[in-house]
Amino acid sequence: MTLKHIAGMASQTRFCGHVLSQLEKLNFRSTSLRVLAFHRIGNPAMKSDYYPGLISTSPERFCEQLDYLAAQKNVVSMDQAMESIQGKTDLPKRAVLLTFDDATRDFAEYAWPELQKRNLPATVFVPTSYPDNSKIHFWWDRLYRAIYRAPDGTVISIGNDKHVLGTFSQRKSVFRYLKEHLKTLSHAEFQQAMESITSACNVPDPDHNNVMSWSELISLQKSGVTLAPHTQTHPMLNQLNAAEVTAEVTGSWQDLKSVLQGEIPKVLAYPAGGVNAETELVLKNCGYELAFTTRRGVNPLPATNCFRLNRINVGQRTTLGLLRLQLL
Ligand SMILES: [Zn+2]
Repeated sequence: MTLKHIAGMASQTRFCGHVLSQLEKLNFRSTSLRVLAFHRIGNPAMKSDYYPGLISTSPERFCEQLDYLAAQKNVVSMDQAMESIQGKTDLPKRAVLLTFDDATRDFAEYAWPELQKRNLPATVFVPTSYPDNSKIHFWWDRLYRAIYRAPDGTVISIGNDKHVLGTFSQRKSVFRYLKEHLKTLSHAEFQQAMESITSACNVPDPDHNNVMSWSELISLQKSGVTLAPHTQTHPMLNQLNAAEVTAEVTGSWQDLKSVLQGEIPKVLAYPAGGVNAETELVLKNCGYELAFTTRRGVNPLPATNCFRLNRINVGQRTTLGLLRLQLL
C-alpha cells in the first residue's frame, strides 16, 4: 500500500482520519521544521501558454490546504526559520514555512490574497532576469509550446534519436521524454538541444512570460511577502562552473536589493534542486546563509547542513490527506 493510498483512506474514513490526527499529535517535535514548496496555483485544465505540470494546486484545494495549516500548524516567517535553522532561536511546535518558486503571476492573483486572509507569511523565490523581460521564457514552457503546437509531421532530432510529432498522446510521451532527457545534459548541450527543438518546431514565443513585474513584486514586498533570490536565469547550478554560479547568485541578490526596500535574505532556492559540493561552496563564499533543495524531508533544528535544506513539494496529486501525512 502506498502513501497515496493511505492518504486517500485517511481523508475518506473517519477511523483513518482519527489515526492521522493522533499521529499528528504524537509526531510533531518542536526541534524540526517542515518547508512546503509550491509553484503555480491554477487550474490545469484551462488552456494556457504555460506548462500545466508546474501547477501545484487549484485555487480551491489551495484554500483547503491553507485552512488546515492555519488551524493545525504554526506557519513561520523566513526570518524566524533562518534564526532557528542556524540554532539562534527555537521555533514553536508544528512549525511550517511556506515557499513559492518562480514568482509567477498567479501568486499575486490567487495565493497572496488567501494567505493574507489567514495572516500566513510566505516567501517567494524570484528568478530576477524574468520580471518585465518578454525575451526570456522558462524552458519547460518553451518545450511545452513547441511539442504541443508544432505542425503534424515535425521531426525533432536529438543526438541519434528522432521524434516525429503526431497525435496528442504521442506528443505527450515525446514531451515527457525530452523534459527528463534535457535535465541530464550539460548547460551547453542543454542550450543546443533547446535551440534545435524550438527551431524544428518553429512555434514563436509569446510576447510575455508569466513572471510578476517589478512593480507587482515591490507592492507584494510592501504588503509583507518575503522575496528571495532564485538565480537570475534559472539554470541548474550544478551544471555551471564556479564563475557562472557566482554571477547567477550574486546577480540575483543584487537585482532584488537594487529594486526592493530593506534587507534581502541571503537565502536561495536551487532551480530544479540542482546542487553539488562546488555549488554549496560558491554560495558560502558569496555570503549566502541558507539554501533550499527540492529533496523531500523534514529539517532538524539546528540544521545539519544549511545549504541542503529539505522541502516537501506540493503537486496536483497532493490531497489534503497526503499533505497531512507528508507533514508528519
Ligand atoms: Zn524554479
